[in-house]
Amino acid sequence: MTLEQIEELLASWSEPKFRAGQVYRQLYVNLARRPEYMTDLSKDLRSKLLEETRMETLRFDKVLTCDKDMTKKALFHLPDGNPGECVLMVYKDRATVCVSSQSGCPMACAFCATGKLGFLCDLTPGQMIEQVLWAERELRGMGRKVGTGAQPTQKNRFPRLLSNIVFMGMGEPFNNYDQWWEAVERLHDPDGFNMGARGFTVSTVGLIPGIDRLADAPYAINLAVSLHAPNDELRFDMMPVNKRYPIADLIDSVRSYTGKTGRRVSFEYILLQEKNDTPELARQLAGLLTNPDGSHLLCHVNLIPWNHVPGTPLERSQRARVDIFQKELSNAGIPCTVRIERGTEIGAACGQLAGANAG
Ligand code: SAH
Repeated sequence: MTLEQIEELLASWSEPKFRAGQVYRQLYVNLARRPEYMTDLSKDLRSKLLEETRMETLRFDKVLTCDKDMTKKALFHLPDGNPGECVLMVYKDRATVCVSSQSGCPMACAFCATGKLGFLCDLTPGQMIEQVLWAERELRGMGRKVGTGAQPTQKNRFPRLLSNIVFMGMGEPFNNYDQWWEAVERLHDPDGFNMGARGFTVSTVGLIPGIDRLADAPYAINLAVSLHAPNDELRFDMMPVNKRYPIADLIDSVRSYTGKTGRRVSFEYILLQEKNDTPELARQLAGLLTNPDGSHLLCHVNLIPWNHVPGTPLERSQRARVDIFQKELSNAGIPCTVRIERGTEIGAACGQLAGANAG
């Protein structure tokens, strides 16, 4: 719930207004899991909350870990039984949670495990937020292993440890735009979870109306676009969405986004052996990201060696081919990195989220 919704609820119980702020802080700052832990509230209010409200809707079934516990994947179910997953990645100086915005996905990309499930349902803002709160609780439980630098102060006994929230889990966030944005707004609220705009990244398959809406949002979060191929023929073969939103229109919309926001966009490009990883295609990609006057689109290319998805005939590019591809892009002046891999052993890497019952 938003602060306003809690205020409304408590007003209907004739509670003073400031109580709503207390409940709100308990939820998003202290991360209380149950009303009985909200010890700054009266006993009556705590039991009323217990009777009348529900604080969690996701059922977390299992947590898989690897990388010496620095990567954790949670498998959960929604109340209607549909599956979901989220992944926490802890690094030396930051911690990132990868959040699902839908159960399954309607986009049907040929290389993606979630795409194989088809669309099951949209997640609500609360269900996206619950994944983030799960990650933050995990981090708080890990103690000194987390190097994000946040220390409890007298004013704030519960500093936020999570540094990044990426909407790169199951689903297409722009296919569930309103609920997704509601989750961002709530997590962004300085009086609540207080994640800064720069801490968010949303990844899209390339839904142009979503990119256009985000360009007009009140604050700029990071945008990643799954490109994966530099020409329509190849991209359509990999991503059905390309029929509706072909590459030229997509690049135009990204250009207008960078113009409006001044923010660098990152393009994701998975590398599939002998499919989209030739030096010729790297040069085509560089050309695509170069403006007619020779300047470059304000962007960065993130190369992702493809992670295995059972039941596909695809193969990940060999390292030497990845290096050559990267060199071609760099030579053309396009900033470009290879994504660090996390969680492949537990099916938690990019494109491997297939829900609790699969894989
Ligand atoms: N629907 C959004 C969010 C998913 S993000 C989008 O398409 O961007 C997940 C990222 O992982 C996307 O860039 C997606 O294309 C990529 N991906 C999908 N399957 C993959 C795989 N098997 N290996 C590596 N990356 C994959």
